[in-house]
Amino acid sequence: MTYTGSCLCGGVTFRIDGAVPPIQVCYCSQCRKAQGGPLATNVPVPESAFTLQDEGRLLRSYESTPGKHRVFCGRCGSPVLSRRDAVPGVVRIRAGLINEPLNSGLAWHAFAGSKCNWWPIHGDVPRYTEGHVPPDVA
Ligand SMILES: [Zn+2]
Ligand SMILES: [Zn+2]
Repeated sequence: MTYTGSCLCGGVTFRIDGAVPPIQVCYCSQCRKAQGGPLATNVPVPESAFTLQDEGRLLRSYESTPGKHRVFCGRCGSPVLSRRDAVPGVVRIRAGLINEPLNSGLAWHAFAGSKCNWWPIHGDVPRYTEGHVPPDVA
């Protein structure tokens, strides 16, 4: 399976080879502000399965906390991915940029304790008041 994606202006495009894991929803205050919305939808992908094209050198990076890099398009502002120095080899793609339908569902809701009071959470997907890091990426 191959997935494709782009930022809003199309200047940054990418390809993911292989499966896209379940989407991790995050309500932390940094994700909210980075997205301009109530939540971020992130999918961790091995760098080896991820091909990025940025011929205009549009990507910019903001280190929102030490070691946590949020990468976005400097022309249109789309959040594209994040990466952590502590988790080398993994990029966390913003799922809304992916063009194709995703059948992997949601993994969990993280930082539900920081959620905006105007945004409801429905369904029986696991919720964590604070962050949730699965053992395989800790
Ligand atoms: Zn763009
Ligand atoms: Zn977050």
